[in-house]
Amino acid sequence: MGIPISKPYFGAEEFEAVQQPLESGWVVQGPMVHRFEQAFAAYTGAAHGIAASSCTTALHLAVAALGLARGDEVIVPAFTWISTANVVEYLGATPVFCDVRLDTFNIDVEQAAALVTPRTVGIIPVHLFGLCAELDPVLDLARRHNLWVVEDAACALGAFYRGRHAGTFGQAGCFSFHPRKSITTGEGGMITTADGSLDRVTRSLRDHGSVRSDFARHHERAGFLLSEYPYLGYNFRMTDIQGALGCAQLARAAWILERRSAIAARYAVRLSGVDWLRTPVVPDGYVHGFQAYVCLFGGDRIDTGEVHALHELRNGLMQRLEDRGIATRQGTHAAALQEFYRNKYQLAPEQFPNAYRADRLTLALPLYAQLTESEQDLVCDALREEAQRA
Ligand SMILES: *Cc1c(COP(=O)(O)O)cnc(C)c1O
Repeated sequence: MGIPISKPYFGAEEFEAVQQPLESGWVVQGPMVHRFEQAFAAYTGAAHGIAASSCTTALHLAVAALGLARGDEVIVPAFTWISTANVVEYLGATPVFCDVRLDTFNIDVEQAAALVTPRTVGIIPVHLFGLCAELDPVLDLARRHNLWVVEDAACALGAFYRGRHAGTFGQAGCFSFHPRKSITTGEGGMITTADGSLDRVTRSLRDHGSVRSDFARHHERAGFLLSEYPYLGYNFRMTDIQGALGCAQLARAAWILERRSAIAARYAVRLSGVDWLRTPVVPDGYVHGFQAYVCLFGGDRIDTGEVHALHELRNGLMQRLEDRGIATRQGTHAAALQEFYRNKYQLAPEQFPNAYRADRLTLALPLYAQLTESEQDLVCDALREEAQRA
C-alpha cells in the first residue's frame, strides 16, 4: 500500500448523513443544503452562505451577480487553478494575469496595481494552498480604483488573515469541496458574502434565475405555480446528498484542520535541514489552512534561472518517489501559460517568471488527516534518499 497525496476522511457520521436524503426522498437543494449553508456561514463568520455545485460554479455565479460583462477586465493571479480565470472568460470578459510571489505563491499586489486600466472592474485574489493573499493591500487597491474583490478561497477553509476567516473580506468568497480540499462533498462549492443583494442574486442565478426555490414552493402555499425567472440563470445547484455530507464533514473540520496543521508543522521540522527544498512560509498575522503542503524544489539554484534543469531533476525525484509508492504532485499550474490562454492572449513564461518557476518547481507532499507519523517519516526519509541519487 502506497502513500497517496491526499485522502478524504469519512466516518460513521458521513455514512449516516448521506442516507437521510435517500430516506426522505428530497435529494436536490433542500433542507440539507440549507443546513450546510447556515453551518458554513457560521463557521467562517460570513453573513450568508450560498451552496453551489463546485467552487468553479460558485466563482461563476459571484462574478455574474456582480455584473461582469464583455469588455471588462479582471485581475487574476497567473499561478492558480485554471478555473479562476475561466469564470471571467465564460462571461466574455478578459482575465488579466498577474505574477505571483515565490515565497507565498500568492498574487503580487504591487504588480497588480500596475495592471489596472479603465476597463478593470474587479480582482480575484487566490488564497493558494490555504494561505491568504495579502488582503489589506488587495482591498486598498480595490478601494482606490473602485474594483470588486471576489476571493478564490477554494483552498482556504481554516485560513485566517489578521484574525478573520478567508472569504469574509471581499464582496464574495468562494470555497471548494472537491476531494483534494480539506473537507469534501464529492463535488461542491460555497459562496460567502455579507451583501444581502448579492446573496439574493447568486441564489437566484444558481437555480435557473428563479426567485423562489423548489423547496420553498413545495412547502408553502400555491406550490402549484412555478417561480418567476427574472434572470438568465444556470443550474449550479448542490444536491441534498452533498449537503448532508457537507454537514458531517464540517462537524469534523476543526479536527481535520488541526491534524493537517500538526502534520505540516512536523514536515517543517523534519525537512528543516534540506537546503534544496523550500518549505511553506506562514507570515505573521496569517493562519495557514494547509489544503496542501507545497514546497519549492531547487534551493538557491531557483534564483539562477536554471528552471529547466531543475524541473527535470524535480520530475526525476518525483518519479522515483512514485516508484516507491509515495505520491507527490506539482502544487498547481500556471493558468496563464495553459494553451488556451497562451494562444488567445499571446502569453509567454517571461511575463510571469515566478508563476513559471512555481509551475515547474513546486512539490506537494502527502497531507491528510489520517497520515500517521511513521508514514510521514517514510516520506521524509525517501525524499532525502532519492534526492541524493540525482
Ligand atoms: C480547487 C480549486 C478551484 C476549483 O474548485 P472546484 O470545486 O473543483 O471547481 C478553483 N480555484 C482554486 C485555487 C482551486 O484550488
